[in-house]
Amino acid sequence: MKCKVSGKKISKFMSFGKMPMANGFLDKKNFKDEFFYNLEVGFSQKNYLFQINDHPKSQKIFNNKYPFYTSKSKYMIKHFQKYFEWLKKNYLNSDSKIIEIGSNDGTFLKNFKNINLDHCGFEPSKNVANFSKKKGVKVIADFFNYKNTNKLKKFKYNTDLICAANVISHIPNINDLIKGIDVLLSKKGVFVFEEPYLGSMLQKVSYDQIYDAHVFMFSLLSVKSIFKNFGFDLIDAIPQVTHGGSMRYVIAREKVRLIKPNVYKLINNEIAMGMNKIDRYLKFRKECEQSKNEFKKKIERLKNDGKKICGYAAAAKSTTVLNYCKIGKEHIDFIADSTNEKIGKFSPGMHIPIVPINHFHKNKTDIAVLFSWNHKQEILKKERSFSKKGGKWISHVKKY
Ligand code: SAH
Repeated sequence: MKCKVSGKKISKFMSFGKMPMANGFLDKKNFKDEFFYNLEVGFSQKNYLFQINDHPKSQKIFNNKYPFYTSKSKYMIKHFQKYFEWLKKNYLNSDSKIIEIGSNDGTFLKNFKNINLDHCGFEPSKNVANFSKKKGVKVIADFFNYKNTNKLKKFKYNTDLICAANVISHIPNINDLIKGIDVLLSKKGVFVFEEPYLGSMLQKVSYDQIYDAHVFMFSLLSVKSIFKNFGFDLIDAIPQVTHGGSMRYVIAREKVRLIKPNVYKLINNEIAMGMNKIDRYLKFRKECEQSKNEFKKKIERLKNDGKKICGYAAAAKSTTVLNYCKIGKEHIDFIADSTNEKIGKFSPGMHIPIVPINHFHKNKTDIAVLFSWNHKQEILKKERSFSKKGGKWISHVKKY
Protein backbone atom coordinates (compact mmCIF):
# COMPACT_ATOMS: atom_id res chain seq x y z
CA MET A 1 0.00 0.00 0.00
CA LYS A 2 1.25 3.50 -0.89
CA CYS A 3 0.67 6.72 1.07
CA LYS A 4 -1.60 8.97 -1.02
CA VAL A 5 0.45 12.02 -0.05
CA SER A 6 4.10 10.95 0.01
CA GLY A 7 3.82 8.07 -2.48
CA LYS A 8 5.95 5.99 -0.10
CA LYS A 9 5.18 2.39 0.85
CA ILE A 10 3.21 2.03 4.10
CA SER A 11 1.85 -1.01 5.90
CA LYS A 12 -1.82 -1.85 6.29
CA PHE A 13 -2.66 -2.28 9.93
CA MET A 14 -6.19 -3.62 9.57
CA SER A 15 -8.84 -4.84 7.17
CA PHE A 16 -12.65 -4.62 7.36
CA GLY A 17 -12.90 -7.28 4.68
CA LYS A 18 -14.87 -7.28 1.47
CA MET A 19 -17.04 -4.14 1.27
CA PRO A 20 -19.69 -2.92 -1.16
CA MET A 21 -20.10 0.80 -1.97
CA ALA A 22 -21.27 2.62 1.17
CA ASN A 23 -24.09 4.32 -0.73
CA GLY A 24 -24.61 1.45 -3.18
CA PHE A 25 -28.30 0.88 -2.38
CA LEU A 26 -29.54 -1.50 -5.03
CA ASP A 27 -32.46 -3.36 -6.62
CA LYS A 28 -32.82 -7.13 -6.35
CA LYS A 29 -31.98 -7.58 -10.05
CA ASN A 30 -28.51 -6.09 -9.42
CA PHE A 31 -27.51 -8.34 -6.50
CA LYS A 32 -25.53 -10.67 -8.75
CA ASP A 33 -23.21 -8.00 -10.14
CA GLU A 34 -22.73 -5.95 -7.00
CA PHE A 35 -19.33 -4.21 -6.77
CA PHE A 36 -17.01 -5.07 -3.86
CA TYR A 37 -13.53 -3.91 -2.84
CA ASN A 38 -11.24 -4.66 0.11
CA LEU A 39 -11.56 -2.08 2.86
CA GLU A 40 -8.02 -1.93 4.26
CA VAL A 41 -6.52 0.80 6.37
CA GLY A 42 -2.94 2.07 6.68
CA PHE A 43 -1.06 4.72 8.63
CA SER A 44 1.68 6.83 7.11
CA GLN A 45 4.24 7.70 9.75
CA LYS A 46 5.72 10.48 7.63
CA ASN A 47 2.51 12.54 7.43
CA TYR A 48 0.71 10.93 10.40
CA LEU A 49 -2.00 10.13 7.89
CA PHE A 50 -4.77 7.57 8.49
CA GLN A 51 -5.98 6.38 5.08
CA ILE A 52 -7.75 3.57 3.27
CA ASN A 53 -6.00 1.61 0.54
CA ASP A 54 -8.23 0.43 -2.28
CA HIS A 55 -11.41 2.43 -2.95
CA PRO A 56 -13.84 2.91 -5.81
CA LYS A 57 -13.22 5.81 -8.24
CA SER A 58 -14.76 9.16 -7.19
CA GLN A 59 -16.97 9.17 -10.33
CA LYS A 60 -18.55 5.91 -9.15
CA ILE A 61 -19.56 7.51 -5.85
CA PHE A 62 -20.36 11.10 -6.80
CA ASN A 63 -22.69 11.13 -9.79
CA ASN A 64 -26.27 12.06 -10.57
CA LYS A 65 -27.67 9.64 -7.98
CA TYR A 66 -25.81 10.77 -4.88
CA PRO A 67 -28.25 10.08 -2.03
CA PHE A 68 -27.07 12.56 0.62
CA TYR A 69 -28.69 15.98 1.10
CA THR A 70 -27.30 18.22 3.87
CA SER A 71 -30.69 19.87 4.35
CA LYS A 72 -32.27 16.60 5.54
CA SER A 73 -30.96 17.51 8.98
CA LYS A 74 -32.38 20.65 10.61
CA TYR A 75 -29.48 20.49 13.04
CA MET A 76 -26.97 20.69 10.18
CA ILE A 77 -28.83 23.63 8.59
CA LYS A 78 -28.35 25.49 11.88
CA HIS A 79 -24.76 24.33 12.17
CA PHE A 80 -23.93 25.74 8.73
CA GLN A 81 -25.60 29.03 9.60
CA LYS A 82 -23.38 29.30 12.71
CA TYR A 83 -20.30 28.24 10.74
CA PHE A 84 -21.12 31.03 8.24
CA GLU A 85 -21.57 33.65 11.02
CA TRP A 86 -18.20 32.67 12.47
CA LEU A 87 -16.47 32.98 9.09
CA LYS A 88 -18.14 36.32 8.43
CA LYS A 89 -16.95 37.68 11.76
CA ASN A 90 -13.39 36.41 11.42
CA TYR A 91 -12.44 36.24 7.76
CA LEU A 92 -14.80 38.12 5.45
CA ASN A 93 -15.13 41.62 3.98
CA SER A 94 -18.09 43.00 2.06
CA ASP A 95 -16.22 42.43 -1.25
CA SER A 96 -14.79 38.97 -0.48
CA LYS A 97 -14.94 36.16 -3.00
CA ILE A 98 -15.88 32.73 -1.62
CA ILE A 99 -15.59 29.20 -2.94
CA GLU A 100 -17.16 26.15 -1.36
CA ILE A 101 -15.85 22.68 -2.18
CA GLY A 102 -18.59 20.02 -2.03
CA SER A 103 -21.47 22.49 -1.84
CA ASN A 104 -24.04 19.66 -2.08
CA ASP A 105 -27.62 21.04 -1.97
CA GLY A 106 -26.50 24.63 -1.28
CA THR A 107 -27.31 24.66 2.45
CA PHE A 108 -24.05 26.42 3.45
CA LEU A 109 -23.53 28.59 0.36
CA LYS A 110 -27.03 30.04 0.57
CA ASN A 111 -25.93 32.02 3.64
CA PHE A 112 -23.20 33.77 1.59
CA LYS A 113 -25.57 34.32 -1.31
CA ASN A 114 -28.08 35.97 1.04
CA ILE A 115 -25.59 38.75 1.85
CA ASN A 116 -24.69 39.12 -1.85
CA LEU A 117 -21.12 37.87 -1.68
CA ASP A 118 -19.45 36.74 -4.89
CA HIS A 119 -19.50 32.97 -4.42
CA CYS A 120 -19.18 29.71 -6.28
CA GLY A 121 -19.58 26.09 -5.28
CA PHE A 122 -17.98 22.99 -6.79
CA GLU A 123 -20.33 20.04 -6.69
CA PRO A 124 -19.87 16.97 -8.95
CA SER A 125 -23.07 15.13 -7.91
CA LYS A 126 -25.47 16.56 -10.48
CA ASN A 127 -28.72 15.77 -8.63
CA VAL A 128 -27.69 17.71 -5.52
CA ALA A 129 -25.97 20.44 -7.59
CA ASN A 130 -29.24 21.00 -9.50
CA PHE A 131 -31.16 21.10 -6.25
CA SER A 132 -28.81 23.85 -5.00
CA LYS A 133 -29.25 25.90 -8.19
CA LYS A 134 -32.94 26.18 -7.31
CA LYS A 135 -31.86 28.02 -4.16
CA GLY A 136 -30.16 30.59 -6.39
CA VAL A 137 -26.58 29.70 -5.46
CA LYS A 138 -23.87 29.63 -8.12
CA VAL A 139 -22.28 26.26 -8.63
CA ILE A 140 -19.96 24.48 -11.05
CA ALA A 141 -21.33 20.95 -11.34
CA ASP A 142 -17.92 19.31 -11.36
CA PHE A 143 -15.09 18.07 -9.13
CA PHE A 144 -12.83 20.58 -7.45
CA ASN A 145 -9.28 19.91 -8.65
CA TYR A 146 -6.31 21.87 -9.95
CA LYS A 147 -7.42 21.62 -13.59
CA ASN A 148 -10.96 22.79 -12.89
CA THR A 149 -9.74 25.98 -11.19
CA ASN A 150 -9.42 27.21 -14.80
CA LYS A 151 -13.20 27.47 -14.84
CA LEU A 152 -12.93 30.28 -12.29
CA LYS A 153 -10.35 32.69 -13.75
CA LYS A 154 -11.59 35.78 -11.89
CA PHE A 155 -11.14 33.96 -8.55
CA LYS A 156 -7.43 33.23 -9.14
CA TYR A 157 -5.18 34.60 -6.35
CA ASN A 158 -8.25 36.60 -5.45
CA THR A 159 -10.34 34.39 -3.13
CA ASP A 160 -10.51 35.38 0.54
CA LEU A 161 -12.20 32.23 1.68
CA ILE A 162 -12.33 28.66 0.43
CA CYS A 163 -14.53 26.61 2.69
CA ALA A 164 -15.60 23.01 2.89
CA ALA A 165 -17.24 20.48 5.16
CA ASN A 166 -17.15 16.72 5.07
CA VAL A 167 -15.58 16.53 1.65
CA ILE A 168 -11.81 16.96 1.91
CA SER A 169 -11.50 13.44 3.31
CA HIS A 170 -13.36 12.26 0.15
CA ILE A 171 -10.69 13.54 -2.23
CA PRO A 172 -7.91 10.95 -2.79
CA ASN A 173 -5.51 13.29 -4.62
CA ILE A 174 -5.10 15.78 -1.81
CA ASN A 175 -1.82 17.12 -3.25
CA ASP A 176 -3.69 18.19 -6.38
CA LEU A 177 -6.45 19.72 -4.24
CA ILE A 178 -3.90 21.84 -2.36
CA LYS A 179 -2.36 22.98 -5.66
CA GLY A 180 -5.85 24.16 -6.63
CA ILE A 181 -6.24 26.03 -3.37
CA ASP A 182 -2.83 27.63 -3.84
CA VAL A 183 -3.80 29.22 -7.18
CA LEU A 184 -7.10 30.56 -5.86
CA LEU A 185 -6.37 32.01 -2.42
CA SER A 186 -5.51 35.69 -2.05
CA LYS A 187 -2.39 36.57 -0.05
CA LYS A 188 -4.27 36.73 3.25
CA GLY A 189 -6.97 34.28 2.18
CA VAL A 190 -7.87 31.25 4.29
CA PHE A 191 -8.98 27.72 3.59
CA VAL A 192 -11.36 26.50 6.30
CA PHE A 193 -12.68 22.98 6.42
CA GLU A 194 -14.42 20.62 8.83
CA GLU A 195 -14.04 16.86 8.83
CA PRO A 196 -14.86 13.98 11.19
CA TYR A 197 -11.99 13.93 13.67
CA LEU A 198 -9.66 10.95 13.95
CA GLY A 199 -9.24 11.56 17.70
CA SER A 200 -13.01 11.25 18.27
CA MET A 201 -13.21 8.12 16.16
CA LEU A 202 -10.41 6.48 18.16
CA GLN A 203 -12.03 7.43 21.45
CA LYS A 204 -15.50 6.21 20.49
CA VAL A 205 -14.34 3.26 18.39
CA SER A 206 -16.75 4.63 15.79
CA TYR A 207 -15.14 2.65 12.98
CA ASP A 208 -18.24 3.24 10.81
CA GLN A 209 -16.56 6.53 9.80
CA ILE A 210 -14.35 4.33 7.63
CA TYR A 211 -15.89 3.67 4.21
CA ASP A 212 -15.18 4.27 0.53
CA ALA A 213 -15.83 8.02 0.49
CA HIS A 214 -13.76 8.63 3.62
CA VAL A 215 -10.36 8.05 2.10
CA PHE A 216 -8.70 9.86 5.02
CA MET A 217 -9.42 10.50 8.69
CA PHE A 218 -7.61 13.69 9.64
CA SER A 219 -5.89 14.92 12.77
CA LEU A 220 -4.08 18.19 13.43
CA LEU A 221 -0.81 16.32 13.10
CA SER A 222 -1.64 15.12 9.59
CA VAL A 223 -3.26 18.35 8.36
CA LYS A 224 -0.33 20.45 9.59
CA SER A 225 2.18 18.14 7.91
CA ILE A 226 0.39 17.81 4.55
CA PHE A 227 -0.21 21.54 4.11
CA LYS A 228 3.32 22.41 5.19
CA ASN A 229 4.58 20.59 2.08
CA PHE A 230 2.91 23.34 0.01
CA GLY A 231 3.89 26.38 2.09
CA PHE A 232 0.78 26.64 4.25
CA ASP A 233 0.35 26.92 8.03
CA LEU A 234 -2.38 25.38 10.17
CA ILE A 235 -3.34 28.54 12.08
CA ASP A 236 -6.39 27.41 14.05
CA ALA A 237 -8.37 24.29 14.91
CA ILE A 238 -11.70 24.16 16.71
CA PRO A 239 -13.42 20.95 17.84
CA GLN A 240 -17.03 20.47 16.65
CA VAL A 241 -19.74 18.15 17.92
CA THR A 242 -21.09 17.39 14.42
CA HIS A 243 -20.85 13.90 12.89
CA GLY A 244 -19.90 12.31 16.17
CA GLY A 245 -16.91 14.62 16.71
CA SER A 246 -15.33 16.76 14.00
CA MET A 247 -12.57 19.34 13.75
CA ARG A 248 -12.60 22.72 11.98
CA TYR A 249 -9.18 23.50 10.50
CA VAL A 250 -8.02 26.95 9.34
CA ILE A 251 -5.17 27.08 6.82
CA ALA A 252 -3.31 30.21 5.65
CA ARG A 253 -0.21 30.97 3.62
CA GLU A 254 2.96 30.46 5.64
CA LYS A 255 3.88 33.26 8.06
CA VAL A 256 1.03 35.50 6.91
CA ARG A 257 -1.20 34.97 9.94
CA LEU A 258 -0.50 34.13 13.58
CA ILE A 259 -0.85 30.53 14.71
CA LYS A 260 -3.41 30.35 17.54
CA PRO A 261 -2.46 28.67 20.87
CA ASN A 262 -5.26 26.16 20.27
CA VAL A 263 -3.18 24.49 17.58
CA TYR A 264 -0.27 23.76 19.94
CA LYS A 265 -2.60 22.60 22.69
CA LEU A 266 -4.53 20.19 20.48
CA ILE A 267 -1.38 18.80 18.88
CA ASN A 268 0.04 18.10 22.32
CA ASN A 269 -3.20 16.26 23.17
CA GLU A 270 -2.82 14.15 20.05
CA ILE A 271 0.74 13.24 20.94
CA ALA A 272 -0.36 12.38 24.49
CA MET A 273 -3.01 10.08 22.96
CA GLY A 274 -0.31 8.36 20.89
CA MET A 275 -1.84 9.48 17.59
CA ASN A 276 1.64 9.99 16.11
CA LYS A 277 2.53 6.31 16.48
CA ILE A 278 1.34 3.06 14.88
CA ASP A 279 0.75 1.42 18.30
CA ARG A 280 -2.37 3.53 18.84
CA TYR A 281 -3.77 2.21 15.56
CA LEU A 282 -2.98 -1.39 16.41
CA LYS A 283 -4.92 -0.84 19.64
CA PHE A 284 -7.80 0.58 17.58
CA ARG A 285 -7.80 -2.59 15.47
CA LYS A 286 -8.25 -4.70 18.58
CA GLU A 287 -11.00 -2.41 19.85
CA CYS A 288 -12.85 -2.71 16.53
CA GLU A 289 -12.69 -6.50 16.66
CA GLN A 290 -14.00 -6.46 20.21
CA SER A 291 -16.78 -4.02 19.30
CA LYS A 292 -17.78 -6.22 16.35
CA ASN A 293 -17.99 -9.37 18.50
CA GLU A 294 -19.96 -7.64 21.25
CA PHE A 295 -22.43 -5.99 18.90
CA LYS A 296 -23.08 -9.16 16.91
CA LYS A 297 -23.64 -11.10 20.14
CA LYS A 298 -26.04 -8.45 21.40
CA ILE A 299 -28.10 -8.55 18.21
CA GLU A 300 -28.17 -12.36 18.26
CA ARG A 301 -29.23 -12.42 21.90
CA LEU A 302 -32.09 -10.00 21.24
CA LYS A 303 -33.17 -12.04 18.23
CA ASN A 304 -33.10 -15.26 20.28
CA ASP A 305 -35.27 -13.52 22.88
CA GLY A 306 -37.85 -13.04 20.15
CA LYS A 307 -37.39 -9.30 19.72
CA LYS A 308 -38.25 -7.60 16.46
CA ILE A 309 -35.29 -5.50 15.34
CA CYS A 310 -35.13 -2.79 12.69
CA GLY A 311 -32.58 -0.21 11.60
CA TYR A 312 -33.15 3.54 11.61
CA ALA A 313 -31.42 5.71 8.95
CA ALA A 314 -29.63 3.93 6.13
CA ALA A 315 -26.59 6.19 6.44
CA ALA A 316 -23.48 5.42 4.36
CA LYS A 317 -21.80 4.58 7.66
CA SER A 318 -24.20 1.68 8.28
CA THR A 319 -22.67 -0.21 5.34
CA THR A 320 -19.38 -0.69 7.21
CA VAL A 321 -21.13 -1.84 10.42
CA LEU A 322 -23.47 -4.30 8.71
CA ASN A 323 -20.87 -5.83 6.42
CA TYR A 324 -18.05 -5.94 8.98
CA CYS A 325 -20.30 -7.50 11.67
CA LYS A 326 -22.17 -9.61 9.09
CA ILE A 327 -25.59 -8.45 10.23
CA GLY A 328 -28.25 -9.17 7.63
CA LYS A 329 -31.97 -9.61 7.09
CA GLU A 330 -32.02 -12.63 9.36
CA HIS A 331 -31.30 -10.14 12.18
CA ILE A 332 -32.81 -6.84 11.03
CA ASP A 333 -36.19 -6.80 9.29
CA PHE A 334 -35.83 -3.44 7.55
CA ILE A 335 -34.06 -0.09 7.71
CA ALA A 336 -36.29 3.00 7.78
CA ASP A 337 -35.03 6.08 5.93
CA SER A 338 -36.45 9.29 4.47
CA THR A 339 -34.28 9.57 1.33
CA ASN A 340 -36.13 8.89 -1.95
CA GLU A 341 -32.95 7.54 -3.61
CA LYS A 342 -32.78 4.73 -1.00
CA ILE A 343 -36.42 3.78 -0.33
CA GLY A 344 -37.58 0.60 -2.09
CA LYS A 345 -33.99 -0.59 -2.54
CA PHE A 346 -31.79 -2.95 -0.50
CA SER A 347 -28.81 -2.16 1.70
CA PRO A 348 -25.39 -2.67 0.06
CA GLY A 349 -23.88 -6.12 0.66
CA MET A 350 -26.29 -7.42 3.30
CA HIS A 351 -29.46 -6.66 1.29
CA ILE A 352 -31.80 -5.49 4.05
CA PRO A 353 -34.91 -3.77 2.62
CA ILE A 354 -35.00 0.05 2.91
CA VAL A 355 -38.47 1.36 3.73
CA PRO A 356 -40.00 4.81 4.36
CA ILE A 357 -40.07 6.15 7.92
CA ASN A 358 -43.86 5.64 8.21
CA HIS A 359 -43.24 1.88 7.90
CA PHE A 360 -41.32 2.19 11.19
CA HIS A 361 -44.28 4.05 12.71
CA LYS A 362 -46.86 1.52 11.53
CA ASN A 363 -45.02 -1.75 12.27
CA LYS A 364 -44.31 -2.65 15.84
CA THR A 365 -40.63 -3.19 16.54
CA ASP A 366 -38.94 -3.69 19.89
CA ILE A 367 -35.45 -2.54 19.02
CA ALA A 368 -34.18 0.09 16.59
CA VAL A 369 -30.51 0.16 15.64
CA LEU A 370 -29.67 3.84 15.34
CA PHE A 371 -27.19 3.96 12.47
CA SER A 372 -27.16 7.77 12.50
CA TRP A 373 -26.00 7.78 16.11
CA ASN A 374 -24.40 11.16 15.41
CA HIS A 375 -27.90 12.67 14.96
CA LYS A 376 -29.18 11.02 18.15
CA GLN A 377 -30.73 14.10 19.78
CA GLU A 378 -32.60 15.18 16.67
CA ILE A 379 -33.87 11.67 15.89
CA LEU A 380 -34.87 10.70 19.45
CA LYS A 381 -36.84 13.92 19.74
CA LYS A 382 -38.61 13.29 16.44
CA GLU A 383 -39.33 9.65 17.33
CA ARG A 384 -40.34 10.19 20.97
CA SER A 385 -43.37 7.93 20.62
CA PHE A 386 -41.16 4.89 19.88
CA SER A 387 -39.47 5.13 23.30
CA LYS A 388 -42.81 5.92 24.94
CA LYS A 389 -44.24 2.67 23.57
CA GLY A 390 -41.32 0.79 25.14
CA GLY A 391 -39.06 0.69 22.07
CA LYS A 392 -35.30 0.65 22.69
CA TRP A 393 -32.54 2.31 20.68
CA ILE A 394 -29.19 0.60 20.36
CA SER A 395 -25.95 1.34 18.51
CA HIS A 396 -22.55 -0.27 18.07
CA VAL A 397 -21.03 2.96 19.45
CA LYS A 398 -21.18 2.84 23.22
CA LYS A 399 -20.85 6.48 24.25
CA TYR A 400 -22.42 9.01 21.95
N1 SAH B 1 -20.67 19.85 2.59
C1 SAH B 1 -21.88 19.09 2.75
C2 SAH B 1 -21.89 17.83 1.88
C3 SAH B 1 -20.97 16.74 2.31
S1 SAH B 1 -21.14 15.29 1.33
C4 SAH B 1 -22.12 18.72 4.20
O1 SAH B 1 -21.21 18.78 5.00
O2 SAH B 1 -23.23 18.31 4.52
C5 SAH B 1 -19.78 15.47 0.24
C6 SAH B 1 -20.12 16.27 -0.99
O3 SAH B 1 -18.89 16.54 -1.67
C7 SAH B 1 -21.00 15.53 -1.97
O4 SAH B 1 -22.06 16.34 -2.35
C8 SAH B 1 -20.04 15.18 -3.12
O5 SAH B 1 -20.69 15.13 -4.36
C9 SAH B 1 -19.04 16.30 -3.05
N2 SAH B 1 -17.69 16.01 -3.60
C10 SAH B 1 -17.03 14.84 -3.64
N3 SAH B 1 -15.81 15.00 -4.22
C11 SAH B 1 -15.71 16.30 -4.54
C12 SAH B 1 -14.70 17.08 -5.18
N4 SAH B 1 -13.55 16.57 -5.60
N5 SAH B 1 -14.93 18.40 -5.35
C13 SAH B 1 -16.09 18.96 -4.92
N6 SAH B 1 -17.08 18.27 -4.34
C14 SAH B 1 -16.89 16.95 -4.15
